[in-house]
Amino acid sequence: MQAYPLVHSYCGFLTARLTDRDGKVNWILKLPIRSKILAMISIAGLNAMLIIFVALIYNSWQQQREALVDSLEILGQSTAVTISAAVAFEDTLTGREILSSLSSHPAITRAVVRYNDGRLFAQLYAGQQPTPKTPIDQHAAPQGNQTPATGNAFYLPLVELALSQSARYLSTEQPIRVNGKPVGSILLEATLTGVYRSIIEQTFFHLAVFVVGFIFAALLVNRLQKVISGPITDLTEKMRSISDSNDYTLRAVVENPDELGDLTQRFNEMLEQIEIRDTALNEARDQADDANRSKSQFLANMSHEIRTPMNGMLGMAELLENTKLDPKQLRYLQIIRSSGEALLNVINDILDFSKIEAGKMHLEQIPFDLRSLIDQTSDLVNDLAEKKSNRLTVSFPGNDPVHLIGDPTRVRQVISNLLTNAIKFTEHGKIELSVLIAARSSSSARLVEISVSDTGIGIAEEKLQSIFEAFTQADGSTTRQFGGTGLGLAISSQLAQLMNGSLTATSLPGKGSTFTFSFAAEPCSALVIPKTGPVTLEDRRFLVVDDLEENRQLLTEQLNRWNCQIDIAASATEALQLAIAASQRQQPYDVALIDFNMPEIDGKELTQTLKKLSATRDTKVIMISAG
Ligand code: ADP
Repeated sequence: MQAYPLVHSYCGFLTARLTDRDGKVNWILKLPIRSKILAMISIAGLNAMLIIFVALIYNSWQQQREALVDSLEILGQSTAVTISAAVAFEDTLTGREILSSLSSHPAITRAVVRYNDGRLFAQLYAGQQPTPKTPIDQHAAPQGNQTPATGNAFYLPLVELALSQSARYLSTEQPIRVNGKPVGSILLEATLTGVYRSIIEQTFFHLAVFVVGFIFAALLVNRLQKVISGPITDLTEKMRSISDSNDYTLRAVVENPDELGDLTQRFNEMLEQIEIRDTALNEARDQADDANRSKSQFLANMSHEIRTPMNGMLGMAELLENTKLDPKQLRYLQIIRSSGEALLNVINDILDFSKIEAGKMHLEQIPFDLRSLIDQTSDLVNDLAEKKSNRLTVSFPGNDPVHLIGDPTRVRQVISNLLTNAIKFTEHGKIELSVLIAARSSSSARLVEISVSDTGIGIAEEKLQSIFEAFTQADGSTTRQFGGTGLGLAISSQLAQLMNGSLTATSLPGKGSTFTFSFAAEPCSALVIPKTGPVTLEDRRFLVVDDLEENRQLLTEQLNRWNCQIDIAASATEALQLAIAASQRQQPYDVALIDFNMPEIDGKELTQTLKKLSATRDTKVIMISAG
């Protein structure tokens, strides 16, 4: 019972060594389980051996010492009897003879016989006279003749010198009696050197036995520890391969019906639960994806239906603006128009985003001149920049046009979004658009990098990534102040990726931001782009084909304003009849404005049929679509 707290504290002492002063884990704890088991059993074994060793040595020491004390007392008693007559008659010669027989005992170093009054009767030194003085010298000061006995030399090993006097010698004093009357005393002194020598020999022997035993035990433990570490290592390997492959259908093998087997079993059960949950999650995700795709699909399909009436409203508002209106009516109309345009912008963003999400955004691959595209885009926003006292500069390498093949509408959309954002978030500052064009080593394609920098409000670092997510704004208050849907950058970033490029941003709050839009494009020969100059539409013959009454009216009104000649068709069949009749009259149409989305025969099919009939050989066909 008493030993338990001791063992507890000792274990505490040992385990405290496993962490250093700062509480950091010692390297021992980082060892593999196999080495830990070996270390643990070795420490426990060494401790047990140490205890056994100390107990054995102590016991042996006690036994040998007691045996020496007993033999010294017996020898003292028997010598007291033998020498009594010599002492009584003061026969020192006989007395010395008797004492000298004691020197045959290997442990006796000295014998001293005194008379009752303390005078020395005889004295024997076995071996050299010891220096410093032995316990006998302290017991009684020798008097008279003290000739040390010669012969029977006794060798004391060096180890004796290291011990204290009392630890080196034993002594016993016995009275000498004649007829029961004390006549003197005999003091015998024995050295413990023999006992020590025997203890040292035993120590070496035990140590040798322990070393052999320890090596044997270590070899045995090394083999047996596999019973514990083997299943743990297997389980760890299995866990690693499951986490690497993400394959939760794998299972670990239960090897033994012990705690480790139980652990493996529980691990397998966990895997089963993960697998069930994964399946449920995957199903839920697939359903959510399907629902999202259906939503995007719906919006993408609705694109035409939503934009058509908007275009009708805006077009009519524009036409109305050119009629006779009083100032109040004109103001109201302008508000209707600008609100409509703002609404159309939002609708366009939502529809574009849905198109991208539904995977229905297809980029065109047509020739365009990047320089004029950038000039036109920056010209369009220049007024806006000036209104906010911003200076807009464009730096383009060289002076020549840069002809590329790509989707100019979408490139313009991204640049325009970056420029309007820069203007929106900057006041009394500078906005700089710069272009870098690099050749790609692996292909003929060019890598175009367009950076738009401003000296505006900037964006906090933690918001820099999220602004590319849909419906996200760096600061909610900007919506109230500047408006916006938070879709522009999400769309631009997706468009950049579709063009094998990227859209990135760096910014410092209060200093400004730089957005870099890059995309890859093949160069093309300048010859592919036919130069267009200003054209007059007056007296040109137009064929307008649209199934919607509002659109037909809008287009007619607009063309009338330009003094064009117009024929109108409400269907593809009607359009075919008009085109054939016109070509028979040798007066083919100059331009055919054809609605792309028409019931029965759509715009594309109608154009192909017209081409086949050679009815529109010299006619420019312009396809109109709101989607
Ligand atoms: P929004 O229609 O809100 O402008 P965007 O996707 O174009 O949507 O931009 C998202 C947000 O990113 C903006 O609301 C604004 O917080 C931040 N942002 C974009 N461009 C800039 C800029 N040049 N300077 C500061 N903040 C910007």
